Amino acid sequence: MKITLLGTGTSQGVPVIACKCDVCRSSDPKDKRLRSSILVQVNDICVVVDTGPDFRMQMLRNDVNHLDAIVYTHEHKDHVAGMDDVRAFNQKHSKAMPIWANKAVERALRRDFFYAFGENTHGGLPQIDIHRLGEHELINGFEIQGMKWTILPVMHGRMEVYGFRVGDFAYITDVNLISDETFAKLTGTKVLVISALRKTHHPSHYSLDQVLDVIERVGSESAYLTHLSHLIGRHEDLQAQLPQGVFVGWDGCVIQNN
Ligand SMILES: [Zn+2]
Ligand SMILES: [Zn+2]
Ligand SMILES: [Zn+2]
Repeated sequence: MKITLLGTGTSQGVPVIACKCDVCRSSDPKDKRLRSSILVQVNDICVVVDTGPDFRMQMLRNDVNHLDAIVYTHEHKDHVAGMDDVRAFNQKHSKAMPIWANKAVERALRRDFFYAFGENTHGGLPQIDIHRLGEHELINGFEIQGMKWTILPVMHGRMEVYGFRVGDFAYITDVNLISDETFAKLTGTKVLVISALRKTHHPSHYSLDQVLDVIERVGSESAYLTHLSHLIGRHEDLQAQLPQGVFVGWDGCVIQNN
């Protein structure tokens, strides 16, 4: 399995428009963060988790030439806004893009991309084929071309968000509470990618200290931080503050997990 971190920034990305802080003015390419998304590849099957506003650029700069499916964590704009650009894959593959989403995400897609759901579905409009993630999938997981996905429900403020586990890899973004039940589903995780917004408290995201506690409890061999704000500091400085086995994620980072 190969995981590519396509974007590791929080909703505004880094640099933030018009911000002159040290992080936003950093010349380190690792301090340039598009909105959070990952690409999961098993053999030739490619699945993207979330299509934020930078989806198009992420497909281009990572040379993603085919995409089998999209899975959504939740409906916030920084995770869905780029869906319209599935059109390129619609044209390339001559078919609708299979997407996997819960009811709330589907409702947001139908609202934000209403033109894709009308009677008129002629060429040029995004074509998606929605697979609903409901109670059955929460319990049993779901399969994408033989790839088995387990849903990891977590809380993001008052919103339920889905993390996902594929084999011994787990991805959880936008979280500030993980239940004992979901911790149980994380048992045996070898590689964990998890969001860590900033060091100070936030009502719907774990702070860095809280994330480090989660990583310790999960006990994965390695963990990568994503969904980072400019407020958390420069990549290099943050990395120096982390315990062994915990890495600051960066755009383009590839994790091989066999
Ligand atoms: Zn987000
Ligand atoms: Zn800044
Ligand atoms: Zn969110």
